[in-house]
Amino acid sequence: MSDRADAPRPATGQAQLGTFDESKAAFAPDRLGAVVADAAPVGLFIAAGASTVFVNDGLVELTGRTRSELLTLGWIGALHADDRARVRAELTRAANDASELDLECRLDQPGGAPHWIRVRARAAPHEDGLLAGAVIDVTDAKTSDVGVREREAELRTLLEHSFDAITIIDADGAVRTTSASSGRISGHAPQSWIGNRTADEIHPDDRDEVSEAFRECAQTPGSTRRVQLRIRHADGHWVTIEAVVANHLDDPAVRGLVVAARDVTAQRDAEEALRASERRHRDQAHILEMIANSEQLEDILAEICRMIESPSDAELRCTIWLVDEEAQRLHPGAAPSFPASFVNALDGLPVKDGAAACGTAAARAETVVIRDALDDPLTASYVAVARDHDVRGYWSTPVFAATDGRVIGTFATYLREPRGPTPAEESAVESVLQLAAMAIERHAFENRLAHQAHHDPLTELPNRALFHELLEHALARAQRARTGLAVLFLDLDRFKVVNDSLGHDAGDALLAVLARRFESVLRPGDVVSRFGGDEFTILCEDLEPGTAARQANAVAERLIQAVREPVVLDGEDQFLGVSVGIALAFDGSERPEDLLSDADSAMYRAKERGRGRSEIFDETMRARAQHRREIENALHRAVSRDELRVFYQPIISLHDGQCVGVEALLRWQHPERGLLAPRQFITLAEETGLIVPIGVWVLETACVQVAEWRRSQRNRGDFRLSVNLSGRQLQSAELASIVRNTLETVGLTPDALCVEITESILMDDADAGVGALKALKAIGARVSVDDFGTGYSSLGYLRRFPVDEVKIDQSFVAELGTDPADSAIVAAVVNLGHALGVSVVGEGVETEIQLAALRELGADAVQGFLFAPPQPAGDLTTRLMQGPRWI
Ligand code: C2E
Ligand code: CA
Ligand code: CA
Repeated sequence: MSDRADAPRPATGQAQLGTFDESKAAFAPDRLGAVVADAAPVGLFIAAGASTVFVNDGLVELTGRTRSELLTLGWIGALHADDRARVRAELTRAANDASELDLECRLDQPGGAPHWIRVRARAAPHEDGLLAGAVIDVTDAKTSDVGVREREAELRTLLEHSFDAITIIDADGAVRTTSASSGRISGHAPQSWIGNRTADEIHPDDRDEVSEAFRECAQTPGSTRRVQLRIRHADGHWVTIEAVVANHLDDPAVRGLVVAARDVTAQRDAEEALRASERRHRDQAHILEMIANSEQLEDILAEICRMIESPSDAELRCTIWLVDEEAQRLHPGAAPSFPASFVNALDGLPVKDGAAACGTAAARAETVVIRDALDDPLTASYVAVARDHDVRGYWSTPVFAATDGRVIGTFATYLREPRGPTPAEESAVESVLQLAAMAIERHAFENRLAHQAHHDPLTELPNRALFHELLEHALARAQRARTGLAVLFLDLDRFKVVNDSLGHDAGDALLAVLARRFESVLRPGDVVSRFGGDEFTILCEDLEPGTAARQANAVAERLIQAVREPVVLDGEDQFLGVSVGIALAFDGSERPEDLLSDADSAMYRAKERGRGRSEIFDETMRARAQHRREIENALHRAVSRDELRVFYQPIISLHDGQCVGVEALLRWQHPERGLLAPRQFITLAEETGLIVPIGVWVLETACVQVAEWRRSQRNRGDFRLSVNLSGRQLQSAELASIVRNTLETVGLTPDALCVEITESILMDDADAGVGALKALKAIGARVSVDDFGTGYSSLGYLRRFPVDEVKIDQSFVAELGTDPADSAIVAAVVNLGHALGVSVVGEGVETEIQLAALRELGADAVQGFLFAPPQPAGDLTTRLMQGPRWI
């Protein structure tokens, strides 16, 4: 202040624009000064301390106040209330240090937008304490400035927080600037991008497309391009980016390409995962359908391999291996992407630790990973296979059975590079294991079913159906190769005896032992089958037509010897024999069923000729067989053409000499051959099953006749009918009900009927026999054992059966009176029969001597030519009318 106070006055001659009148404390510009001041386009003021001593028109205009207001209240009063103190302090400071002041502040303009002014002032030289200042309106500049800065800050915040990365690329292709997000997306610091012009981080597969998009976009100002690309993240993984490139080269504010890029990896992965899962579901449904349709296992497994192979970028190749039944070795299930050389080299891989990945995985029941097949102890023996087939890393996962958790296979996945599976690859394989297990198990199950359908469970040999099929194929082969083949039909001798006396379990064991013996004496290619019961068939192929008979005989001889060796059952040696029939085929043109029936006929011949031997089917046998077939056909016709007859033979009581009943005996009135006796056709009727309907017909016909005789002979309410039943009839469950219905229909009481069953039938199938007899007894019919003494039965056997009568066989009766041994037998039968309450009938009585002997021995009734032969009903009626007594 003192400086200024001491400051020299302006020199005379210097333009003076006015003087300050201290007394008035006002500045009075001279006329010129006033004109200049008022003409200035700015506001001017002069202040002295706190007072305003001068204002020009410009300031009046600027502030909108009157000159006197400004002068009396001070020009600072025209400022915004918030700014006044600051400005006053600054002015004071400037006045005090004689320094310049330059500041911006707001005018006081209530109700309007703030008006900004810039104030520049400084102490006036030589005028102590005076401060002169200029004021200009800076509202425009000010407001636009603030706007830009705010907008910039706003935008920056937006950019920094934006999900998208915004990058500006110069016309020359270098990155000029990029937002923080690019760092987040790429893992590289955003600054590191600046100046970049190469595409190193872009996935090689995407580079062309990206540069093409940029090039196109750069050509047309204002255009945009959208492109998807992958870039390598700083940590190595690929990030999928969606970028929009916009050409702003023409925009003076930008002059570059603006790239807005967004990380769509998660989205893309999600889409990819969705597509993958849709595809997997489709594939799974397809596989399940294949399984349901029982398609080839190999096809199904190959399809499962493809489920993993085709969606993968890594060129995965898959194989499936099956664990064999003994859980010893692996065999190929499917290997759709490998040549046979690969599969063949590994077929039979042992299931054991150390046998490559698959053998080891199957043995350990866990996944085994080989990172490099060319360098791993587990694959040491398979390096060549791996190299030949471009296999480096691979891994094998066990396939477990859903039913019992056994390892039933392995799923192997192969890479061309040395590495282990990625988590995605692992889980993909995981997802198909169950399908593979289903397919494999289903296949095994079907195989088992097929095996069961084609094999005899007891001996595990092929059954009749399979034998037939194999024979058919063998015949086709024989025809092509012009070789011979033999079919051998085996029937065990005495098997029934063993089976009945030792029980079915022993019988089963016996058959199983013999099955193994048969196999052991045959060549590996020969087929043994269990044809049924105690019958076996054998097929020998590739016989020389010239020596076929000799070869077949040799085979038969070995088989007979094999059976002859005793079989130990329950600690006891059992001796059996076998009868073998052989049929030969020389050129394969024969039909399987004919060969089988020829072999069967030959076998019967062997039995007839003494059992334990073999016979080859020959021309005489063919003729006989032919004859048999003719009779069979004729017999069929006989039933429908009413050619059968029932003859009746009287049965005479030894107690009163009266005819107590008749035995119905079948005859066939053959149109060409005349009247045929049962032995000429009954066996055939039994074998073909015709005996069942024929038997019913005999029963009905005879019942009608006997009811008629009962009515016509007064007082003969006890007149009986005896009917012969065959074994086949006893097996029929309806027998008892048929008998009951028939008796009811014709009005006979059940005890009018006596059914005759031969002793041998009872011996052959005792269980069925006893059942049927009990059922017949239950309805009230009587039971007679026919041909007694011929069926090897002991007398004690009778106790097992509900028997009312025994008929002593004709062979014993024939020798009565001449052979004392026969008399002894008949005596024993009569005595035992009577002891058991069973009546005894002697049949085939032809002489008075025989009659006398039977009477002597105590028989109850007799039957034979001595009294009457079997005869038609009409003939017998006449005789019956003549009186009841026959002897
Ligand atoms: P079978 O039941 O033992 O019948 C007695 C057989 O002896 C009859 O032979 C009869 O004609 C014959 N015969 C009767 N008296 C004498 C005699 O004094 N001397 C001799 N040498 N023979 C005599 P047939 O009628 O030829 O019948 C043979 C066998 O056929 C019967 O033996 C019986 O087992 C069976 N058979 C007959 N008819 C039928 C039938 O309807 N059904 C069944 N399942 N079998 C029948
Ligand atoms: Ca009889
Ligand atoms: Ca008899």
